This record gives sequence, structure tokens and C-alpha cells, in this order.
Amino acid sequence: MYSKSIAVAAALASIQTASAAYYDSFTSSVNPLNVTLPSLPQTTSYDVATECTYYSPDPSLFSFTATQWPTIWQTATTNGMNTSTEFTTLYNSINWANAPNIAVRTFTAAGGISTVGYDTVNDPDCWWTATGCTVPKLANVNKDIFNCPEPETWGLSYDDGPNCSHNAFYDFLKQQGLKASMFYIGSNVMDWPYGAMRGVKDGHHIASHTWSHQYMTTLSNQELLAEFYYTQKAIKLATGLTPRFWRAPYGDVDDRVRWIASQLNLTCILWDDDTNDWEAGFSTPVQTVQNNYNSFIQMGTNGSMANTGNIILTHEINNTTMQLAVENLPSIIKSYKHVINVATCQNITYPYFEQTVAFPSFSQYVASNTSAGGSAANVTSTTSSVSSAASSVQMNTAVVVLMAALAALVVQ
Ligand SMILES: [Zn+2]
Repeated sequence: MYSKSIAVAAALASIQTASAAYYDSFTSSVNPLNVTLPSLPQTTSYDVATECTYYSPDPSLFSFTATQWPTIWQTATTNGMNTSTEFTTLYNSINWANAPNIAVRTFTAAGGISTVGYDTVNDPDCWWTATGCTVPKLANVNKDIFNCPEPETWGLSYDDGPNCSHNAFYDFLKQQGLKASMFYIGSNVMDWPYGAMRGVKDGHHIASHTWSHQYMTTLSNQELLAEFYYTQKAIKLATGLTPRFWRAPYGDVDDRVRWIASQLNLTCILWDDDTNDWEAGFSTPVQTVQNNYNSFIQMGTNGSMANTGNIILTHEINNTTMQLAVENLPSIIKSYKHVINVATCQNITYPYFEQTVAFPSFSQYVASNTSAGGSAANVTSTTSSVSSAASSVQMNTAVVVLMAALAALVVQ
């Protein structure tokens, strides 16, 4: 009994040591406390074609060897990454004997994910896609975050960036003093590293949205580990920061996926209200998405948020979704007491493994918000407080200019 408990303790220690240090080998030339973006048309223009023209990043800021990375937009085990020395070392540091024995999910003939044969009544795997489950059945996995605990709080989150044409949108957020949780796709970070740097420079909370944005429950254990690992490495390379949080594409997470994410000390952030903005103008009329916004905005004043806040799913995936954000944020700010990122609403002071960048606790945010005269400004304890010097007239003018710029962008 005695020797057995020592063996268990030793095994646990080795797991914790391995998983706690995997990011130590990551490299970056970016100081997240002092990001200086190169002044290029791509980083300053409001013209989509100009913003999305490929650039070679300044090698003193961002350089990589393609043979050491997965293929962009393909499963992160591609380009030989499944057998790379670093990935093999990571893979072997995990005690896979403890991994849950949960089936890899399959697709239907129509291309959707199949829940046929899954026990949705007992929901043994806490599979969100099948049941909306957010409380794991498995012990020893990190529990999902899916709302903001503070009343009358809109948890601001944007998925699928960094989008190459987000300059006007990010300028708008900056001028409103808004800090969002940004869930970046690893492939986008590699393609548009300055976009990721901009997110950190503006004080947003950066989190992972996997390497290639697939239904996670359909991937093998090895593929899942690679999707998480190489996104961590990419975000670190571009920003100097390694996220502690991730969001499942399509919300598709179960306890097998959670267990593997937990091996990298990653915690899933989901949402509790979905605007479905990503399909606006495609399979859903823009007006339908606007109606979704309207009902969520009304929740800020009709008592729905009296006891708790929400986390809203929105996207920076295209100019329609970014314009919807810009058009609706003034009403959101009016209806809700607080419009803040998930780190702040959850009192997560350090949302990265590096403790270089700190976020305000909720009470610190409230204190600074009050002193800033009611704008939704955040501060970080490691940077100077957000300027409130701009007069409301100046800000409104800037907003009008930005909205006009965004409206002109919706041409695709
Ligand atoms: Zn997504």
C-alpha cells in the first residue's frame, strides 16, 4: 500500500512536470508588453484587398522553418509532424493508459457529425454536440467555462481570427475601450502573424481555436494533441504568449478531447448564447442574425441577466460579422453594465502560462471602469491605464468613420 502510493505520487509528479513544461521550449522574438507592429499597408489600411495581401514578416519579429510545422489548414499531424522529435517527445510524456476509452466520432453522409448510437440520456462522455453538456463526467479534466458569473455582464468573444482584414474592427474596439477574448486559429496566426500581434498590443485576451478548425471529437488522440500543441507554439511565436484557454470549433468537445487538452493544461471556454453570425448572408439572412443580437441585447435590461452574465459567440471571420459587431456594440454597451473579456469576468488574472501579462480582476475592472466615466475600459496591471482623454465627440466621429469604412468593405 505504502509503495503503491509512492509509485502513484511519482507517476503524477512526472506527468505534471512533463505537461507543465512543454511550452518552455517555445521561442518568440516578440515582447508582449511592448509590441511594435511594422507600419505596412497591411497593418494600417481599411481596404480588404490591401490588408489581405500576403507579406513576408520581418524575420526579427517572426520567422519559422516550414519543415518544422504542420501544413496550414490541414490536420496538425501533417508534414511529418506526427513523427517529429519534439512531438514524439511530448506524446511519450503523456500516460496514455489513463486516457478515457471514448469512441472517435464519425460524420453522416451529409457531412454533419453523427450522434447515432450515442446514449444522449446518460451522456457518458459529456459530449456537447449531442447534449450541450459542459460539466465533465470524467475526473481530472479541466471543467469548461461557459458563462460570466457577474450579473448584467456580456462576455465578449470573437472566434476564427486573426482575420487579415480586421483593422477597422480592431480600431473600433480600441476606441471603445473594449477588450475581448479572441480565439485564434493556428493556421491563421501563421498566415497573418501581425494580426495576432495586434490582438496582444490592444490588450485582448488571446486563446486557442486549434490548428485547422475541425470537429475535435472526430480526430484521433494523436491528431488532437498535435492540433493543440502546434497552435500553442504558433501563438507563442507570434505574440510571446502561450494561452491557457481554448475554444472547441463548433463546440464539439467531449471528455476524451477535454482529457487531452488537460494534458497541456488547457481549459475549454464555450458560450451560452450563439448569434450564429458566421452564417449571416450565407445560409441565414443577415436580419435573422440581427434578431439574435436584438434578443441578447434585450436580455441586458429585461431581468434575464439579473443573477448571472453570459458569454456570447461571435466571429471575426468576415466583414459581415465584424460589421454586425460594430453596429451592435453601442446598444450592447447601453444595455449591459459590463462588456468584458472572459479572463476578466472569470477573475483569471493570468490567462497565459507566462506571467508577463496580467489582466484585471473583475473588481479591479469595475473600479477602473467607474473612474473612466462609464466606458467599458479595461486595464492591465502591467501596462498604463487606458486613456480616457478622447472626448466623446472625437470618439463618435471616429466611430462614424470606422462604420463607414466597414460598410464599404462588405463587398464580398
Ligand atoms: Zn470557429
